Amino acid sequence: MIANLLHTAEPIPTSARAELDTLMQSGDLFRYHADKDAPVTLLEQEFAALLGVKYAVAVSSCSAALFIAMKALGLGNGDKILIPAFTFAAVPSAVVHAGCEPVLVEVGSNYRMDMDDMHQKLDGDIAAILVSHMRGHTSDMDALIAACVERNIPLIEDAAHSLGTTWNGEKIGTIGAVGCFSFQSYKLVNGGEGGILITNDEDIFAQAVIMSGAYEANWSKHQTGANSFAKYQNTLPLYNTRMNNLSATVIRPQLAEVERRAADGLKNHDYLAGKLNASRHIDVPACLPAEHRAPDSLQFNLLDFTDQQAANLVKNCAKHGLKLSIFGLDHDNARVFWNWKFLDGIPDLPKTRAMLMRACDLRLPAALQQTHLDQLADIILGGIEAVTTKA
Ligand SMILES: *Cc1c(COP(=O)(O)O)cnc(C)c1O
Repeated sequence: MIANLLHTAEPIPTSARAELDTLMQSGDLFRYHADKDAPVTLLEQEFAALLGVKYAVAVSSCSAALFIAMKALGLGNGDKILIPAFTFAAVPSAVVHAGCEPVLVEVGSNYRMDMDDMHQKLDGDIAAILVSHMRGHTSDMDALIAACVERNIPLIEDAAHSLGTTWNGEKIGTIGAVGCFSFQSYKLVNGGEGGILITNDEDIFAQAVIMSGAYEANWSKHQTGANSFAKYQNTLPLYNTRMNNLSATVIRPQLAEVERRAADGLKNHDYLAGKLNASRHIDVPACLPAEHRAPDSLQFNLLDFTDQQAANLVKNCAKHGLKLSIFGLDHDNARVFWNWKFLDGIPDLPKTRAMLMRACDLRLPAALQQTHLDQLADIILGGIEAVTTKA
């Protein structure tokens, strides 16, 4: 059934399995055991090289990377941080975890931050912007950078789902002060769990290394010299969000697959988007002109649908073996801001709400073939036809 294909992962490269076996034999699973060349250290070097940045710190998740990033930027004590209102619940959670307060910015029907609302909410109280490139959709980075420069506040990039995406040819995650990526299984590179933080700033790097759990002189196993660490030694909490060597070993050989997966993902996305956009009831929003995407999912909006028709479409697709999700109609969807009840005083965000009530979410693994995409299009377009032509 097609539904099963949407949740399959690619096999872990065989070379990782041989490396894992060696690791199991040695029992050397902790990143700071070996004096040098531990798998986690090598992953950091390789990832920094892949993205073209100076520094990378591997951690246990993207959420941990975001938390450490905020801490390394000196944020906390109730600092207000702008975030888009369309993202995964882990993002406002990381903000709260860092002792900050998220200020939710409207997201438009193209799934990107609404820049008018961003400017309206960007007052003297805002200490940083955390742009979450939700489902790999890139917000206007030129506008965000300009706003941050003008106010002299940092831009943090949640690039969890944006590995392989570029903006004006620059890699997403390298544009802000810090970029954070995820290796959770539903992302482009599958480590089960895991995350990584990248930066070109030596001070942010040194603090992130120590706070991620490099106690005593373990900083010496990272990419830079003693001077940058000396001023932070014993002055920072150790949050212990380290990655272990098993995860790094699973992740490393997949870095060579990023380009292919990104290209296949985009090809699949654009093929299916073309078929769906032919329907007058569907809009797959175009990406921004500066953006080159690496999607592994597809989102589309239902046009002029009632709640009842939208619910009927979900039922109709389910009948044909496809679990189509409409964010706002799902029970307890963690990507829907009104379900973030751990936040105080969630504002009304009519634009984001309207989008969430009509936006469909479909996973699209890079390994899908054209026949699968045709099958998906047939189910969705057939469903649309069935619920919009009433006797
Ligand atoms: C998956 C995801 C996260 C969370 O990543 P974890 O590694 O699971 O913590 C955050 N933001 C976005 C946009 C994501 O897709």
